[in-house]
Amino acid sequence: MATAPSPRPGVLDISPYVGGEAKIEGVARVIRLASNESALGPSPKALAAYRAAAGEMFRYPDGHSTALRQALGKHYGLDPARIVCGAGSDELIGLLIRAYAGPGDEVVYGEHGFLMYPIDALAAGATPVKAAETDLTFDVDQALKRVTPRTKLVFVANPNNPTGTYVPRDAMRRLQAGLPPSVLLVIDAAYAEFVQRNDYEPGIELVDEFPNVVMARTFSKIYAMGGLRLGWVYCSPAVADVLNRTRPPFNVNSAAQAAGIAALDDMASFDRAREHNDIWRPWLERQLRALGLALTPSVANFVLVHFPPPPRDARAAFEFLRARGILTRRVAAYGLPEHLRITIGLEDEMRAVAAAVADFMGAR
Ligand code: PMP
Repeated sequence: MATAPSPRPGVLDISPYVGGEAKIEGVARVIRLASNESALGPSPKALAAYRAAAGEMFRYPDGHSTALRQALGKHYGLDPARIVCGAGSDELIGLLIRAYAGPGDEVVYGEHGFLMYPIDALAAGATPVKAAETDLTFDVDQALKRVTPRTKLVFVANPNNPTGTYVPRDAMRRLQAGLPPSVLLVIDAAYAEFVQRNDYEPGIELVDEFPNVVMARTFSKIYAMGGLRLGWVYCSPAVADVLNRTRPPFNVNSAAQAAGIAALDDMASFDRAREHNDIWRPWLERQLRALGLALTPSVANFVLVHFPPPPRDARAAFEFLRARGILTRRVAAYGLPEHLRITIGLEDEMRAVAAAVADFMGAR
């Protein structure tokens, strides 16, 4: 007989998600390149709205995020009734999995895909199923091969974290066409705003055409509001109905709703964040490649760097940078033990990390 309460099967198989480090003991100005936060910080308009919302803290928020959904609808040309907001896209990913999958069901995701997909699948008692990738890129054919009658959801982070690679519009369309209509395809476009490719589409077109497609977005990345926890999905009315039945009633706090609306109204800040990334990601890529390091082509606001075998391996590089007050992200949990992920930061941060990696590689 069990002697203590035990969680449902699968829960204790979860390796808890480990976020990027934020502090180093004894270092006053840490260079934080571990969490893909947009370098320039949030819009001043969003900050002002956040502060202005403080006095309303004693009131419950609008449980339907009505004004925010209207603002998103207007901004992107979408029907607000088909938008559901959440406390970060993390919350919405978890809600989708719990609503559509349970014990005996399968959730397909890419081999190096974002880790919350298998974590949430296990938490729901479902089975996460990894599809092999090609060149650290989601592979539509491999994913379709893993689909069985038990498959309930397929997740594609597009672009993917931590690889920075993306699935072009036509390939995504092929994935949708290859799935039974009963399988929900979730396109997690957390980094969509950074992508500058003609053959990229964040998922709106597919959601418009097919009721089994969901697009997830976040204010944590280009809008630099990760601390507020704000994300949203665009989906069919049926999926929106499911999420609205299962989500917590006041899942988005009032300050986040106000700041989100204000951020959408500040395209100048948005453009600056994109332009900054367009300059400094290629710059960092050039610097690191010049040191002989291999990089995975990224369309997002981070780069994935492949380090050589010891002594100049990823773990040693991570520790070396950390000792200089620079935090990057180890990605061994994503099956990438020889890689580090480095977020695009401010100009001086990029110069500092490039110089430190050059020292580590013995190039200076
Ligand atoms: N999807 C991807 C691909 C991510 O990288 C992240 C952030 N790590 C999220 C979703 C979750 O973002 P948030 O909950 O902050 O919206």
